[in-house]
Amino acid sequence: MSGKITFVGAGPGAADLITVRGAKILAEADLVIYAGSLVNEAILSYAGNAECVSSGDMNLNEIIELMSKAWETGKNVVRLHTGDPSIYGAVGEQFRELEKLNIPFEVVPGVSSALAAAAALKIEFTEPEISQRVIFTRVAGRTPLPDGERIEDLTSGTLCMFLSVSALDKLSADLIRAGRRASTPVAVVYRASWPDEEIVYGTLENIAQKAAVHGVKRQAMVVIGDVLDPGKTKSKLYDAEFVHGYRNDRFYGKCAIFALTPKGIGKATQIASGLAGSVIFTPEKFTSLVPELRRMVYPDGGFSAAFARAWKEFDAIIAVTASGIVVRHAAGLVNSKKVDPAVVVCDENGDYAISLLSGHIGGANRLARAVAAITGGKPVITTASDCRGIMALDELAAKYHYRIVNPDKLTEIAQAILENKLVSLKMPEELFNRYYNGMDNVEYLGDSKDVIEVKINASGVLLKMVKRRFALGIGCRRGIAGADLKAEVGNILQSHGYSWNDINLIASAELKKDEPGLLALVEDLGIPVKFFSGEELNSIQVNGVSHAAQEHLGINSVSEAAALLAAGKGANLIFGKTASGNVTAALVEIVEE
Ligand code: SAH
Repeated sequence: MSGKITFVGAGPGAADLITVRGAKILAEADLVIYAGSLVNEAILSYAGNAECVSSGDMNLNEIIELMSKAWETGKNVVRLHTGDPSIYGAVGEQFRELEKLNIPFEVVPGVSSALAAAAALKIEFTEPEISQRVIFTRVAGRTPLPDGERIEDLTSGTLCMFLSVSALDKLSADLIRAGRRASTPVAVVYRASWPDEEIVYGTLENIAQKAAVHGVKRQAMVVIGDVLDPGKTKSKLYDAEFVHGYRNDRFYGKCAIFALTPKGIGKATQIASGLAGSVIFTPEKFTSLVPELRRMVYPDGGFSAAFARAWKEFDAIIAVTASGIVVRHAAGLVNSKKVDPAVVVCDENGDYAISLLSGHIGGANRLARAVAAITGGKPVITTASDCRGIMALDELAAKYHYRIVNPDKLTEIAQAILENKLVSLKMPEELFNRYYNGMDNVEYLGDSKDVIEVKINASGVLLKMVKRRFALGIGCRRGIAGADLKAEVGNILQSHGYSWNDINLIASAELKKDEPGLLALVEDLGIPVKFFSGEELNSIQVNGVSHAAQEHLGINSVSEAAALLAAGKGANLIFGKTASGNVTAALVEIVEE
């Protein structure tokens, strides 16, 4: 008499998340072959006196042999897989072997860890009007991804990434290249439904950093998509005043560059190197001319489709082409200045960067200036308020690192300025004097350190901008003078578009607590300082490991780890360890305190 073979889904971990049928079949089993440590051993207690064998060290042949022998002798065999057997359970090959041997079997489904992750997150994967599909996938590992299923192809939909938590960096970069916003929410759910379940939230831009701070654990589901934050996303998507670009001073991850000739691609590559996270759309035949990390290849002749896609998915487009090409392709896509991307056209020599569309609200004027600064060319700007010499408020926000609380009001303000209405400004005196003092129809309401308020005709607060806060990590050689430290770190800050005025907190290693130069600097600037022990610093995973610090102090990183620790929860890395002369510095935005 022969027995019975059943493949059973054990569920995500918690013993009571196995199905009633699965538990019943386990109770009748004589032999259980379970998928190693991913299966909670508590589930094996349902199996009564059955023999339980881990398949962790067994290959396919060994598993099939064990199953078939037991079956022949009349035993009930359960092959226990985590979650649901059909998802990365490698059951297909087992089914085929059993079929070859004419051995019958059944399958009992289980609760996949993706579903347990949704439960832990308390979200709907298929939130109406945000996403109506869920993709279960993984990053390429030993098993490559088939054509058409690469990460770059996952341009929309909610993603549940199995087997991927150790590759968050590349995964995020690839998804940004696929056209997803850098601010797309991401959650990493560790050990969903187990007693030690944990969740780390972030965005494509910072999840790798956050998960690293948290410490890598293998058993984790990475969930990606706007369904993680439906309230916010919905209101953003459906807010008629939704404005491109303001989330993101330099269009990080949201700038698409087009070029059609080898020379143009050379210029595009130069521009891309100065705009972090930007990508170059390139025809197939020029693939090899574009650095791999920046490359988005479209089929030759597919310029129209690629352009239309970038229009929808990116906050800014830079075209190193004739302006006519851009105008013709943009014609059918233009909607309104509130939603259209910033469009900048640049000639192949980089002599001119023309702000073509969405100059003001979309930030194209700002982008044209940035592009011209990179190529050594001239920005061409035609919007009225810029020509009248009024420092655009959005540009002020980007340059001095303010967050615009209600960007929807910018149009009203710009209009009022054009109509010569009285504009009242409350802002740091230095900024007022630099940009607005002495202008007609501008009234100064007084100094305020961290907030800018703009009112029109004293009609109540219309626009509000709040200074973003930053923690600066510093590492330095013994004996450096305070003034040198200030100058060197100042250079590093400046090269990233920041200044000492932006720093709210300084952090370093405890070993530097009595470093005279550092203490002098802190005193001079009046910025609070925090010191962290070697042990605390080593608890943080960083990108920029410092070999010198490792060797001399036994610390992996001083500046980057200290800045991350000082910024605390929700830290958002702006730039990692950067060296200049005898100092290193890293900058982290303080998001929550
Ligand atoms: N068949 C299983 C998946 C097996 S592949 C299922 O349906 O869940 C193993 C991967 O599943 C892990 O790398 C991890 O990404 C995910 N995983 C398994 N159990 C998990 C859990 N409890 N919490 C989060 N992810 C889990």
